[in-house]
Amino acid sequence: MNDDEITQAVSRVLSKYTKTTPEAPVQNLAAPAAQPDRASIEAIVASVLASRTAAPAPAPVSAPAPVAGDGAFATMDEAIAAAQQAQIHYRHCSMQQRARFVDGIRQLFLQEEILQQLASMAVEETGMGNYADKLLKNRVAAQKTPGVEDLITGAMSGDNGLTITEYSAYGVIGSITPTTNPTETIINNSIGMLAAGNAVVFSPHPRSRNVSLYAVALINQQLARLGAPANLVVTVTQPSLDNTNALIKDPRVNMLVATGGPAIVRTVMSSGKKAIGAGAGNPPAVVDETANIEKAAQDIINGCSFDNNLPCVAEKEVIVVNEVADYLIHCMKKSGAWLLCDKQHIQQLQALVMNEKGTGPNTAFVGKDARYILQRIGISVPQEIKVILLETESDHPFVVHELMMPILPVVRVANVDDAIDLAVKVEHGNRHTAIMHSTNVAKLTKMAQLIQTTIFVKNGPSYAGLGVGGEGHTTFTIAGPTGEGLTSARHFARSRRCVMVEALNIR
Ligand code: NAD
Repeated sequence: MNDDEITQAVSRVLSKYTKTTPEAPVQNLAAPAAQPDRASIEAIVASVLASRTAAPAPAPVSAPAPVAGDGAFATMDEAIAAAQQAQIHYRHCSMQQRARFVDGIRQLFLQEEILQQLASMAVEETGMGNYADKLLKNRVAAQKTPGVEDLITGAMSGDNGLTITEYSAYGVIGSITPTTNPTETIINNSIGMLAAGNAVVFSPHPRSRNVSLYAVALINQQLARLGAPANLVVTVTQPSLDNTNALIKDPRVNMLVATGGPAIVRTVMSSGKKAIGAGAGNPPAVVDETANIEKAAQDIINGCSFDNNLPCVAEKEVIVVNEVADYLIHCMKKSGAWLLCDKQHIQQLQALVMNEKGTGPNTAFVGKDARYILQRIGISVPQEIKVILLETESDHPFVVHELMMPILPVVRVANVDDAIDLAVKVEHGNRHTAIMHSTNVAKLTKMAQLIQTTIFVKNGPSYAGLGVGGEGHTTFTIAGPTGEGLTSARHFARSRRCVMVEALNIR
């Protein structure tokens, strides 16, 4: 195929998904790869955060029907076979080519029109989260996921010669993705896994099938345009638990990466293969009497309401020292929280949003916004309400269980040491994320040491830990259970040593 033919083919496929002229995205695809710089990231983050409450979602985009081809295969067997072939060809590509492919994916998902489609489709298909925050999450995934520069070569030289250690591909990676960050995880994992030299087979959550297949199709079209081997990023046309299990068992899959709840993390960790498990959290936010209470309140509300509380890092409960509790609640109300005091309302809410056994959330309310949830118990609130606040005991189900909806229980304690102890308890040893608002360095240090979470955010919203308004790269696969932490390309690679004996040392 020559360039014109490829352009026409891409235009034809894109025209199935967009109501605008197909030429526009194709022209944009040709733009040079973006180099994410701090100023532009901060500007984007600031503008999106500023517009979070104001930005209405555009008219819903009907999710396009997934098409065969474009990286989507009828069976898992075919998808894995295609990825295996692709990876064999990929081994012959240079690091420069890898960098070009990865930057091409970055560039693709930085197009505003595509970001808008993904955000809109994800909200429509999954019924979870909000448009403005999904835009931001997908943009950050494209901008701040590390590429080939993450693969740092180590060297040791001495009288016996020169030894280097390099990061080398695993081969074919099976990546199981969640419904809460469907395309963010696909963008993030594709960049990191391809940078490390792998091919990837995605097994998306069935509830986010269309938007996930669309993201995979776009990646395939972009990679084809850049001359990459075909089928480096593939999936199945009918994602299902059976397909995920077939992926896990297939001997051609060299590594598994699961981003999701405890069941799937346990499954990949007991698969007998190299596995990365990025599991559930229940992040507590501790506030002590030395904190800047106004800022703490704002940060907690912003973090808790981010994408309607879907992110695994988002604030799930507040533990506050009694001395400042009233003022914190007052400030949270000023920042967009609705305080629920009536016992009957609280019981109604609990009956509504917990599952029948009371062991977790009713999935029908996961990722719904605060106004919608309040309406269901007969309370109408203004547009600016983002979080439902209520005071509870420390053993209330809202404190104990990960709800993933903007309901924020507040627990009062006598002092900061009690707050830290309770935070450790309700985090359940997930080693995921915790937040603390304090200016007492000794207590900040104490909590960080005791809670042992992968992410510990001090004096900021939880999403600062993902590089949104905080320093550092982003990931949508935070591997607490298996210990890789905020995953990046190097975690999707094997470390290999290459030894030259009695030569190439030059001192
Ligand atoms: P989920 O566990 O229901 O699904 C995740 C993926 O695993 C999906 O692809 C699903 O189809 C598959 N899956 C789940 N159980 C399975 C089973 N028994 N057999 C085969 N496949 C199975 O999670 P979700 O609702 O999509 O996402 C929310 C959960 O994921 C929350 O607990 C959240 O904290 C966690 N999460 C963690 C991270 C992280 O980086 N640590 C990121 C996002 C989400």
